[in-house]
Amino acid sequence: VKLEAAIQAWRKVLGAAHVAIDRPTLLAYETATFATRQRVHAVLSPRSVAEVQACVRIANRCKVTLYPISTGRNWGYGCRVPTTTGAVVVGLSRMNAIVEHDDALGYAVVQPGVTFRQLSDYLERKRSTRMPPATGSTPDASVLANALERGIGFGVYGDRIEHLCGLEVVMPTGDVLHTGLRRFRDASARRVQRWGVGPSLDGLFSQSNLGIVTEATVWLPSRPRFLQEAVLRFRDAELGGVLEALRSLQGAGVTRGVVKISNAYALTVGSYPHWARSMDPSVRMRRPLPIRNPRWMARVQLFSGHALEGRARHASVIAALEGKVESLEMTRREPIENVPKGPHVGVPGDQGLWLLYWRAKLPVPETPDPWRDRRGAIFCCPAVPLVPVHVRRATRILSRILLAHAFEPVITLNVMNERLVHVVGGIFYDRRAKGEDARAMAAYRAAFAALLEEGYFPYRLGIQSMEALPASLDDSDAVLARIKTALDPEGILAPKRYESGRKARRKV
Ligand SMILES: Cc1cc2nc3c(=O)[nH]c(=O)nc-3n(C[C@H](O)[C@H](O)[C@H](O)COP(=O)(O)OP(=O)(O)OC[C@H]3O[C@@H](n4cnc5c(N)ncnc54)[C@H](O)[C@@H]3O)c2cc1C
Repeated sequence: VKLEAAIQAWRKVLGAAHVAIDRPTLLAYETATFATRQRVHAVLSPRSVAEVQACVRIANRCKVTLYPISTGRNWGYGCRVPTTTGAVVVGLSRMNAIVEHDDALGYAVVQPGVTFRQLSDYLERKRSTRMPPATGSTPDASVLANALERGIGFGVYGDRIEHLCGLEVVMPTGDVLHTGLRRFRDASARRVQRWGVGPSLDGLFSQSNLGIVTEATVWLPSRPRFLQEAVLRFRDAELGGVLEALRSLQGAGVTRGVVKISNAYALTVGSYPHWARSMDPSVRMRRPLPIRNPRWMARVQLFSGHALEGRARHASVIAALEGKVESLEMTRREPIENVPKGPHVGVPGDQGLWLLYWRAKLPVPETPDPWRDRRGAIFCCPAVPLVPVHVRRATRILSRILLAHAFEPVITLNVMNERLVHVVGGIFYDRRAKGEDARAMAAYRAAFAALLEEGYFPYRLGIQSMEALPASLDDSDAVLARIKTALDPEGILAPKRYESGRKARRKV
């Protein structure tokens, strides 16, 4: 009855067309790239901050749970599916305005529905001197949501949440707040000073369930004049030396931003369309792809503003890596305009999704979409210090367990800076094949548990693991629970999302 009352009220605010309750639509919001059981009661599509506020107030009044998403491409982590059953999804893709853009200062103010493709096209139209962000996922994902999930992009601003400020947030009560200096009239530095003055609230709204973010400022790096690329190929035994070399290159500022290192499985499966035709189409892969002669590969991008600078970076890379790798190819210093387009130069593409199709040997469609095509994907992604022994141990745990479960350990090491590596392990499979969902989830859970056991905690969680972390040693869980209760007294916003260790919440 309360849900029905809420639906009536939302229809009045949004119009009936933007309150979906038909089964096919709901089913789409109940389906991820792995098995889920959550049911969705309705999908709301507000168009403005005022409409989001009204939706939230109605939810409070009627005590209905809301689950906000932006574009809902959280593939491998849960897609559009809420963390709990019986929620109403608030989809923000209609809020897709690029509100402001300043090329000199290098920022764009975006709403949650703005996609990587949209921002890239916009900046190109404006002949911007700035590089748009891009990730290895689809260009149709949300620039804002990806940063809120602390996603990883290419290039110098690849640690995406580091380059976000000035959030506009609809709180679970319907109040609106702005972080940083945006809460003051005419604060001139509101787009460029993240911390504001006094306590900074930005961190409360990433990987959390404390507010619905309706706008934010995304900083954009300047487009360098020249790009060079060093392509390193090396054996497993050489990984430690490469990591140490990259640490010193990152520390000295020769390389900047995220450096990606792929293992042999990522390279082979990732280039699937190139070799698929030579495979026997009747074979359905049930065991890991055999890889002879496994090699790692790193692509190190060097951005420079001047020819001399490029030469110096080039020399530093050679000095740091020569003799430590099997092969080191260095491209010439190319004006960036001549470099083939791709995510590494801020032009989002979907080549990163090819690997989802190989297990079923499906041709890669024009627009790959794992959710639509029932491709299976689950990510397990520990954060590890940039110390060879740690990176090796985490990588070996992932490889051993995924191979034991008969999945290829598709692993990318994202060297985030001179201190930190995000190890991203993907389990990719065919959801249409009987029993694969259960097998893939068992592999994921075993890897997740083994990594935790060794002290390798994830940098990000999928909806299946929101409560999988251990309780904290100190009072953090209780304090976070009190913050949640203070900000969301009716508990209507995304319950359980990133609430590991907070099972005692009701008692607080
Ligand atoms: C092959 C492959 C490669 C990938 N490569 C990458 C990669 O390189 N880097 C990377 O980061 N990810 C990658 N992904 C994962 C994923 O596709 C991206 O992170 C994608 O950007 C997330 O989807 P989205 O932007 O549509 O976010 P959404 O699905 O809209 O949001 C993600 C979650 O954030 C929360 N949220 C969203 N919007 C709001 C809001 N406005 N207010 C409050 N909470 C909100 C919600 O809980 C939501 O479930 C990859 C996935 C695959 C399958």
